[in-house]
Amino acid sequence: MDYVERVLSELKAKNPNEPEFHQAATEILNGLRPVVEKHPEYEKAALLERFVEPERVVMFRVPWVDDAGSVHVNKGYRVQFNSAIGPYKGGLRFHPSVNLSIIKFLGLEQILKNSLTGLPIGGGKGGSDFDPKGKSDNEIMRFCQSFMTELCRHIGQDTDVPAGDIGVGGREVGYLFGQYKRIRNEHVGVLTGRGLTYGGSLVRTEATGYGLVYITAEALKARGDSFEGKTVVVSGSGNVAIYAAEKAQSLGAKVVAMYDSNGYVYDKEGIKLDVIKQIKEIERARIKEYASRVKGAEYHEGCKGIWTIPCDIALPCATQNEIDGASARILVKNGVKYVAEGANMPTDLEGIEVFQKAGVVFLPAKAANAGGVATSALEMAQSSGRLFWTFEEVDAKLKNIMVNIYHNMDAAAKEYGCEGDYVAGANIAGFIKVATAMMAQGVV
Ligand code: NDP
Repeated sequence: MDYVERVLSELKAKNPNEPEFHQAATEILNGLRPVVEKHPEYEKAALLERFVEPERVVMFRVPWVDDAGSVHVNKGYRVQFNSAIGPYKGGLRFHPSVNLSIIKFLGLEQILKNSLTGLPIGGGKGGSDFDPKGKSDNEIMRFCQSFMTELCRHIGQDTDVPAGDIGVGGREVGYLFGQYKRIRNEHVGVLTGRGLTYGGSLVRTEATGYGLVYITAEALKARGDSFEGKTVVVSGSGNVAIYAAEKAQSLGAKVVAMYDSNGYVYDKEGIKLDVIKQIKEIERARIKEYASRVKGAEYHEGCKGIWTIPCDIALPCATQNEIDGASARILVKNGVKYVAEGANMPTDLEGIEVFQKAGVVFLPAKAANAGGVATSALEMAQSSGRLFWTFEEVDAKLKNIMVNIYHNMDAAAKEYGCEGDYVAGANIAGFIKVATAMMAQGVV
């Protein structure tokens, strides 16, 4: 049993019933094998064992009262995974599926993603099994206030800086920030994704989706190609999906399908994003509505069918494990050439293998969706400096970061003998900086 296998088997024994955490750790550690072989000192320092063990896990009760006066209790989580290169940084997810395994997989991924951005941010993640769907504004506010009443003891602008994720957008960040400020009496950059009138950054809303398209465009460019004239399928219709579709369209691609958790819409003329934004961002309604508002568009119940639509580029932007081996095989059969992950871990391990064996250019989440957290770090820099950069300034920095990530993971893959394997390349490039910092800081 080699070092990686030993750490993985110990991790599974110590953390049973955490399948998503096992999946993420398996993908990451397998990719790091060439690095630990080159650095035997890492094993002596139990570096991988420390890397997969969060520095701190906070779990708490979140009691709140609904509009009818009934009392509810949800679970709250914050996993402060690794602070070797900077304060913990990572989003909060509010979704009924949230549990410790999911938060730990997201936190582990976040360490390497944040390192890849080249900015000084450590890794963390948090959330709750609260379901924002169907709740009134007041219920959302009361929930956020209760959540922050506990969370505020554990975070701070130089300690841990949360942001949004699934179910946590501008509205929720506003309520969370308001409560933090009220309790702690300080107006600081303790959350990112804030509104523009109270410390937010331009481009943060668009950043993950735009960044995803910038890195994909760089991969296309490296092969003498571009988005122009390409057919694109984007899953999801939330923050990441909408702005990925917007940037892909602006570069000349045709986005033909999107979904929400009930079903997908197919519009062979190209999705009209103003209609999607109206339905999903303003009305908070179901994507099904699109087919009744746009002539010629089709709605199909269920999500999986979206991957049977032929496309050149697939951008999964909803949630984990959206693309399994079977869906990956259909995409390959239909001629997909590029898959770039906007969501976290949307492709399962079998799906990744299918794409890589078929020679599909596969850009993993920790590189491809790093634009969101990178722009969050730019928001932190503006907060600390009491500055406010223009849209063009932030967008140019974001693009530059994404282009650098592409070339860094490409170079790391080449250096470690796995050219074109961006899963390994991203893991290696992200890990080396964190490992070097951890080694320098001693056994902590
Ligand atoms: P949103 O809540 O804005 O949107 C999520 C979208 O995915 C919605 O359309 C939602 O449908 C759909 N969805 C959620 N769960 C499922 C499911 N189980 N099956 C099918 N569809 C589902 O979230 P974001 O756009 O912010 O996040 C999407 C992904 O991107 C997540 O994996 C997140 O971790 C990742 N990410 C987000 C970043 C950000 O800056 N926001 C940064 C980096 C990664 P419905 O409307 O029905 O709920």
